[in-house]
Formats: sequence, C-alpha cells, structure tokens
Amino acid sequence: MKSLWSDQAAEDMISHYAKMGHGRDMALRVYSSRLLGNDPRLVLHGGGNTSVKTMVRDVMDEEIEVLCVKGSGWDMGNIEPAGLPAVRRAPLMRLRQLAALSDEDMVNVQRANLLDSNAPNPSVETLLHAFLPHKFIDHTHATAVLSLIDQPDGAERAAELFGSSMGIVPYIMPGFALAKRAVELFEQDPSVQGLILLKHGIFTFAETAKDAYERMISMVDLVERTLDKTRKTHFIPASLPNKPTPLAAIAPILRGLLADRLEDRTVRRWILDFRTSPEIRRYVDGQDLARYSQQGVVTPDHTIRTKNWPLILPAADPDQLACWADMAKTAIEAFATRYAAYFERHNINGSKQQLDTIPRVVLVPGLGLFGVGASAKDAAIAADIAENSVNCITDAEAIGTFQPVSEAEMFALEYWSLEQAKLGKGKEKPLARQVVVVTGGGSGIGAATALAFAGEGAEIAVLDREKASLVAAQCGKTALGLELDVTDDQAVRVAFDKIVERFGGIDIVVSNAGAAWQGTIGLVDEAVLRSSFELNFFAHQRIAQNAVRIMQAQATGGCLLFNVSKQAVNPGKDFGPYGLPKAATLSLLKQYALDHGRDGIRANGVNADRIRSGLLSNEMITARSQARGVSPTDYMAGNLLGREVTARHVAEAFVFLARAERTTAAVLTVDGGNIEASLR
Ligand code: ZN
Repeated sequence: MKSLWSDQAAEDMISHYAKMGHGRDMALRVYSSRLLGNDPRLVLHGGGNTSVKTMVRDVMDEEIEVLCVKGSGWDMGNIEPAGLPAVRRAPLMRLRQLAALSDEDMVNVQRANLLDSNAPNPSVETLLHAFLPHKFIDHTHATAVLSLIDQPDGAERAAELFGSSMGIVPYIMPGFALAKRAVELFEQDPSVQGLILLKHGIFTFAETAKDAYERMISMVDLVERTLDKTRKTHFIPASLPNKPTPLAAIAPILRGLLADRLEDRTVRRWILDFRTSPEIRRYVDGQDLARYSQQGVVTPDHTIRTKNWPLILPAADPDQLACWADMAKTAIEAFATRYAAYFERHNINGSKQQLDTIPRVVLVPGLGLFGVGASAKDAAIAADIAENSVNCITDAEAIGTFQPVSEAEMFALEYWSLEQAKLGKGKEKPLARQVVVVTGGGSGIGAATALAFAGEGAEIAVLDREKASLVAAQCGKTALGLELDVTDDQAVRVAFDKIVERFGGIDIVVSNAGAAWQGTIGLVDEAVLRSSFELNFFAHQRIAQNAVRIMQAQATGGCLLFNVSKQAVNPGKDFGPYGLPKAATLSLLKQYALDHGRDGIRANGVNADRIRSGLLSNEMITARSQARGVSPTDYMAGNLLGREVTARHVAEAFVFLARAERTTAAVLTVDGGNIEASLR
C-alpha cells in the first residue's frame, strides 16, 4: 500500500474550503479522510472514523477547543465538513474521571456539546478521539491488519511485527470503556504512533494530517508485506459437479427461497448481488469452507450488514436443480434455526427484540457469493463486505487460523442500539424489494413508467432499442438499461437472464414496447399486418413468457402489465394493422390471468389514448387537429374531461395496477374519458 498524499491536492482542498468559510484544519481533515475512505482495503461503507482538534469561535465570540469527528451515517470516501460535527472538547475530557458511563448518557453528553444542534450524532468512537491528545487521528479497519490480528495469537503477532511503534489494546466493545482503556495504554508509552485494537482495527495519530495518514499507510503496508501472499492456493478444493450451473438458473430459485411469506399472505422479497472472481472461487470451493467461513465477521461493525456468518449452499448440478432447490431450502431453514438459537443464547435478560433470520451473504461452491439486501444498494454493501472478508480470511488462513471476536461479543455489537441506529429506520417505499422490467422504456410512456416505479422504491431494468441506459441512469445508480429489439427472441432471453444475474429475479413486467402501423384493412399488404403482429402481439407474448419462466422459479407470484391501447376496444379508421394485434394482446392478458393465477401471477393492462409520444408525434398532432379544424391543444384535450393526458398519467395507472394485489384480468382506461372506448 502506497501513500496517495499530494501536497498540491491538499493545498487545493484548503483553498476550495476557504471559500466556504472552513479553515485549514477542516480542509486537511476532509482531504485525508477521503484518501482513506476511498480504499476498500482500509474501510468499507461507513466503517472507520477520523477527527481533528481545532479552535473555533462560538456564538459569544469566545475561542473554544472542539473535536471535529466523523458523524454517524457519513462515509469517509465522500465526507464533507458537515460530516465532521464539532463537539466541545472540555466537557468530553471531564468524562474520563467517571468509572462507568452508559451508552445513553455518552450519546447525550456528546449531542449536548455539539456546536450545531442539527449535526449528526458523533461517531460511537468519539471519546477515544477526544481522550487522545493528538491533533489528527485516523481509524480504519484495514483488511491486512485484520488478517494479522484475527488470530488466536493476534496480540503476539502484532507485538512482534510492530515492536514498540504501536500500542496494543485488547478487544473491548466501542464506547466509554474502550476509550478509557485505550488512552491508559497510550499513556504507558506516549511515543507510539498508533494503537492496534485487537479483532477490530487500527488507529494512527500525529500533529499533522499528513503524518497521521502516512503512519496509517506505512503500518498497513508493513502488514501487507508480511502476509504470506504466495500461499493463496492453500485451500484444498472440494469435489464439485463437472458441469457448471448458470447463475441465471440458480439466482431466481435462491431469491424465491429467501423470500419471507408473511402472515397476511404477502411476500417480503430480497434483492441479490452476485460476485465471483478467482479469489472468491478458491474460497467458496474450499473443502474447509464450513470451518473458516463460519467463524464470524472480520471486524465487529460488519455484523449489522452481513450478520455474523454467511449461509453455505451445496454446489448445484445443472441436471438436478430441483434436488438442489430442496437442499437449499433445508439449508436456509437450518440457518434460521441457528440464528434463533444464537439469539436465545445471548439475549440473557430478554431485553432485545430478535431481528429477521434471513442471511445477508450466501456462498455457493462452484459459483461465487451473493449479497442479500432489502435494496440493490444494501445487497451491494453486503457483497462488498463479503468480498473483502474473503480476502481477509484467505490471508488470515495463509499465515495461521482465522479467529475473530467471540460470538457473545458479536451479539453485543449486532444488538447494540448505537449500531442498529446506523442503519436508519425510514419506512420502506411501497414497491421496495421488487424488480421491475419496462420494455420500450427509452422514451414516452415507457420512460415515464420506469421513473414512476423507481419513485416507488422498485429496482428498475429498462429495455429498449435505444436510450435504455439513459433512462436507467435517471432511475438511479442501481438501475439497469439494456438496448435490444423485443422482436428478437434470443436477445430477449439473454436480457431477462442479465436482469436475473443483476438483481436475482423479476417481479413486475411492464410490456409496453409498441409501434403503430396504418392501412385500410381491405387493401393493406399482409407484410404490414405481420410486422405489426410481431411487435404488438408476439413481442408481448415473448416478454410475458420469459417473465413467467423466472416468476415460476421464484414461486413468489408476480405481475404482468400490458400496454394495450384503446384500439383494442375502439378501433380507429384505417388503424386495423395496429388495432388487430392490440385486440389479440387484450385476449393475451386475460389468458395469462386465467392460466397463471394459480402461480400467483396477475395480468392487467392499460388502455391509453392520445398521448404525445413516438406513436403520436407532433407532426401527426398538427395534421389531425387541422383535419378536425381545431387547435393542437384542443385536439389533445378532446376528451370528456377536456384535459390533455400525458405519459405520467399512464405511468401512474401501471403503478396502481402493480400495487392492486387482488386485481387480475383488469384493464384500466387512461384517456381523459372517451365513451366509445370505455369498457362495459
Ligand atoms: Zn472501528
């Protein structure tokens, strides 16, 4: 590991933040916090923390010393001054006299001494930063350091490697007791450059931001050079089925098995994030996987993201998937039983409420690993941590035997209110945990629909011939955009597999892609009719069939939504080539509702009319309004309500139908009122 410090970049940060009224100390604190936070070998997802002690003027214009320390909920990689709230240091220092301090009192004193009462809660490790005298303090959960100290003899290994340059602190849960013990150990030898917190991480400190940072880098580099990197292949491989099983076949089965069937017969789904690499494969394919993967998390605060141990599934044989599904089901049930027993063992005074029993990391020999989360973002966090743990444990096993904190200590952290508070308790959006596919999503009704579903908390996959990626980017960082033609059978199958590989499965499909063909029915060329049927009927069937294939593998139901058009019930003159396949699509949705209701799959449609889009261009609007002798505005508002209908109104109808859990074989009209097109 090399220092990324640049004096020029540091000076640039100082002038950047000076314009916003922040001093040199804060600018440098932000600069090196980001250097640390952007390296996953040092910290991951909100882990670690940093601080600076500086002087500020309060509202009475008195100069006071404050500790600016990372706030809960901030990530070091993109931290801003607002993420380093200032706490008056003197009241914190007085706490050292106490013999004990409850977590509630600690948080309260910290909050009560914030200069800005709206600031986030200072880190749970604030007192450690406050008690130590140094101006700049850096704390990480460096992977290499954890490989060294997550060992039965971690203390001896650390002492041998670091000599007198680092103090060694036994494992104590973060909070007041750890802060007191750490500063006592520091005072025994104030010449140390930092502290090793056994089974937890590393602190370095100095009077300048650069020195504190470079001490961190040099300590981690020292460990990295010591780890036996040549023995990476020391895991003895287990025997696996000869043929690999495709991820797209495994993922929906797993996702379906993980889903909780709740008492009100609704389903609580999970999103998956799959990872594989030669390192991951060596790890998950190892004969001893059941030993080294089940010891616990590499540093305690990972437990709130990954639980203490991952679920191990058997390797899958592609010719015996049903048998694999049975074994996977048994393994998931055993995981839940083990988790409940762990909870019972440690919930000694009965004061805690058990969390869910769903694993957050799943290891599959022959394949790789899955992160599991309530959203694609959470699943990615779990997968990132799992990938990092693979590296950490691989190195730990190369030099000795991986051994993290005890189960009781992990429980204490997992069920610590201050840790659970990091996850936040916002109410989930209505379609959170659901994967939605929208065809024709690159523009018009499809784009509006993809955005509307994203607004409801769903994970989005946009399919279209063009602009699918563009709309996906507007839907959020985790959305997927795939450019393809829905009349291409092979391309559709590949696309559905890609969506499954990305999110684990599919729950709602909006089959929207379509185009208008015209022609007087008695004169029209059959080729025109066939082209229209390809897109306006067969593509809907193809999309729906692929959806059903995945929904049946998940066995958690699903929802098919079709853009039918008013043409299906109220044909327009010379629009036969468009209206006929749309009428067939109306029958198609009824057939899906009929044949797949038993699978819990609902099928509904929307009949929209007169929406500005590729189907109804501005030129067409001008021509039609002229033909009727009205203005384009009046033409667009030519319905019973006298108001133009937009793509957003159609999108809202699709969302409504997706949420209407007891509605199937229904068609919702969105046309501002057109009595000829109304359903009986
Ligand atoms: Zn820590």
